[in-house]
Amino acid sequence: MKKINPFKNGLKPVAILAANKEHGTRLKYLSGCKCPDCRRANTTYQCAREVEKKRGDWNGIVPATKARKHMLKLSEQGIGRRAVHAVTDISLTILHDIRTGTKKNIRARTERKILAVTPDLASEGALISAAPTWHLIRQLLAKGYTKRQLAKMLICDANALQISQKQVRVRTAEAIARLYKKLEAEGFITAKHYEPEETLPANTYRIKPGVIEHRMGE
Ligand SMILES: [Zn+2]
Repeated sequence: MKKINPFKNGLKPVAILAANKEHGTRLKYLSGCKCPDCRRANTTYQCAREVEKKRGDWNGIVPATKARKHMLKLSEQGIGRRAVHAVTDISLTILHDIRTGTKKNIRARTERKILAVTPDLASEGALISAAPTWHLIRQLLAKGYTKRQLAKMLICDANALQISQKQVRVRTAEAIARLYKKLEAEGFITAKHYEPEETLPANTYRIKPGVIEHRMGE
């Protein structure tokens, strides 16, 4: 713990401030009392501070400089604007403006997202064949899930719903694989058109690839 220099900045020594305080206060603890009550008071305070810090999702305005530098560094490692967009969902226009320096200030959350991009993370935005993903989706539809239902279950990752026929992002493929596993573990009982005995031929619910989309109406 930092030592308190009592006379700087006109602050009163902690011993003086704590002199009239009851035991069981942090001030008393800081003034040197280590009785159980004062210790407890100090611990309580520190825990609360930690929680506050962790919860910290401050979203004020910050200079875009740090984010810009990070993007340039990523770019040197072959991770361009599109890759950053793929993992952060920050619009390409904003990323462009940050990179060129046109945008001088950004939201703190935007900065945090950009600074969190590493080459490892960027690989999650890479495109892979969509075939295995579509295989899983078709199986779920055959089990009686509706497109809308699947979209809802994936909504936590809205981009996962923009599934093209040919290619899919690594993280999208993983999100669907995770969902499939979860539903399988539940025995697929959450399907809207749940059929206990699989009496229907597999191709009853044949669907065209590419139909699961973000703004699916039905
Ligand atoms: Zn005490």
